[in-house]
Amino acid sequence: MSYRPERIYIDSQVSSSAFCYKILQKFPDVDQVIVTAPDEIRELLGPDFSITKGKRILYLKRYQGSAFKLCPGFSEDVLCCNYYVIDLIENCPLECTYCILQAFLNKPFIIFHLNVEEIIEEAIAFIKKKPERPFRVGTGEHSDSLALDHVFGVNSYLVETFAGVSNATLELKTKTDLVEPLIGLNHRGRTVIAWSLNPVEIITQNELKTASLENRLKAAKRMVSEGYQVAFHFDPIIYYPDWRTGYEQTVEMMFDYVPVRNIAWISLGTLRYIPTLKQIAEERFPNLSIFCNEFIAASDGKMRYLKKIRKQLLQIISELIRKGGPDIPLYLCMEKHGVWEEVMTVHPPDSEALERYLKRNV
Ligand code: SF4
Repeated sequence: MSYRPERIYIDSQVSSSAFCYKILQKFPDVDQVIVTAPDEIRELLGPDFSITKGKRILYLKRYQGSAFKLCPGFSEDVLCCNYYVIDLIENCPLECTYCILQAFLNKPFIIFHLNVEEIIEEAIAFIKKKPERPFRVGTGEHSDSLALDHVFGVNSYLVETFAGVSNATLELKTKTDLVEPLIGLNHRGRTVIAWSLNPVEIITQNELKTASLENRLKAAKRMVSEGYQVAFHFDPIIYYPDWRTGYEQTVEMMFDYVPVRNIAWISLGTLRYIPTLKQIAEERFPNLSIFCNEFIAASDGKMRYLKKIRKQLLQIISELIRKGGPDIPLYLCMEKHGVWEEVMTVHPPDSEALERYLKRNV
């Protein structure tokens, strides 16, 4: 997948920035329009504007406020891994049927925040104030970390900047195989490249425009040969008739491609969604079957599989992983202590202990 925008809107405040110039130079034949506010874009695009069309529009602007923050998954009753996110890109050119961004973003364009240096400086100043604490920081919260790097060219800057921060690990999460820009960088072991994994049939039906499972794992192997540690996220885990076989084959393939010692961590998280997502996704993707199950509303307002299904999925998949890599740090994303106790062999008592556990292989 090589993304190319149909039109680029540029906030007048940042139209003279160097990053802006480099991006615009890559698309000299694409319409470039200067605007003063996002509402102007909606007016220019007209009433039949959709999420699908929005993915082909780029909006280059300045981030107002703090783009470095604690992962929004944080809550008192779940065991949180204290992950920090840097909000450089909003929205994504890939098309996962379950993607929460479809129901969540109020500006459905692909937005890039051009004040990158300022945002990263702020993040690093915060991290350096707490030298005794290990930080994990990611850019894949509101987009795929690699899918647009041929357009924005930001990852080499991030990797080489974080190489100089001894108490932080940068995580770049992806469902692509677009690793070319990461080759030959001086990362000093402080960047982890992570892939979200699912069985082939789930990828084919629900992770559209992404790389195949095999190509994701080939890219992971290539990153290992470049000296990076890699990570994997089985998230969202989908409950479907052949799930046991599907996840067993996926875990086997992962271990066939990547040596256990090069895996920094693995996370597990079952499908969850905000109630408004279902209708939006079903309208956009006819014949969608992932929501045809029994779900309950959890205390955070998100719909989840029944607890006995979640436990079964997490238990079986964690056992499969434990069999191949007993010492890989394995954690649950957004699950309560009770589920950890019932499902996991290692259960750190609090977020700080979990942070230390996750840094063991880095
Ligand atoms: S890769 Fe992530 S951000 Fe992109 S469409 Fe899929 S779920 Fe959404």
